[in-house]
Amino acid sequence: MNGLPARRLLLVHAHPDDESINNGVTMAKYAAEGAHVALVTCTLGEEGEVIPPGLAHLAADRDDTLGAHRVGELAAAMAELGVHDHRFLGGPGRFRDSGMMGAPQNHHPEAFWSADVDEAAGYLVEVIRELRPQVLVTYDPDGGYGHPDHIQAHRVAMRAVELAAETAFRRDLGTPHRVGKIYWNRVPRSVVEEGFARLRAAGEVSFPGVGSPEDVPGVVADERITAEIDAKDTFVAAKAAAMRAHATQIAVDGPFFALSNDLAQPLFTREYYELVAGRAGVPAGEREHDLFAGVQS
Ligand SMILES: [Zn+2]
Repeated sequence: MNGLPARRLLLVHAHPDDESINNGVTMAKYAAEGAHVALVTCTLGEEGEVIPPGLAHLAADRDDTLGAHRVGELAAAMAELGVHDHRFLGGPGRFRDSGMMGAPQNHHPEAFWSADVDEAAGYLVEVIRELRPQVLVTYDPDGGYGHPDHIQAHRVAMRAVELAAETAFRRDLGTPHRVGKIYWNRVPRSVVEEGFARLRAAGEVSFPGVGSPEDVPGVVADERITAEIDAKDTFVAAKAAAMRAHATQIAVDGPFFALSNDLAQPLFTREYYELVAGRAGVPAGEREHDLFAGVQS
């Protein structure tokens, strides 16, 4: 297997920072356990809003150099998580951040939102056939919260899994490979509600406002959760450090954080998933505590 470790996990995300917010604990844990953890980020996040006033000039409507800056932030975040394989779909800058739904940037010629799904998926097929992951993690069809790049990342990831397994598809992209298990990022509603209750009870938080459960992507009824990753404090610390590394996008204060909207949210120390393809490694009704449960390597 090209000298790759026995367990191989691939995560597909829209922008630098999404991986640390959604999967920081999971990535740190599996990297530390010696699994091959690979991240594919679909855009550079060029259209993000910039939090530190001293870096405001990077923004798309000023110098438009935020993308290059966020490449560095992502590299620093990966160092915190101990993840060595991180790539941009089609190479850095191939697809541009599309901005929020309905924004004129959606129609930029390089916008990820306007990319042909099969063409974009081709780049990911090559990665899947090279790394041969047993487990793939991405968003649900709504991208968790309706951002065009998150929706498109979902479409591209799901299509790439199909195409990677098709024996007749683009043999120049490698030997066909079937991904065993696909998970979507989730947060159980009870955990979100408990997190915001904790936040309100904390009283003094260094952010101007407090968010609400609607600000959290991927929230579903608890019964939908099929896997829960509960990791050691060192991995939670790594997640917080990785989030801090995305300094243009995230401000972290203890167990809470805020994005550019300045609304405090709980930083989740456990991460949750819904298995949508492949067989669970535990009996029906139980939650997995290992994304590789039941996987034959
Ligand atoms: Zn994002």
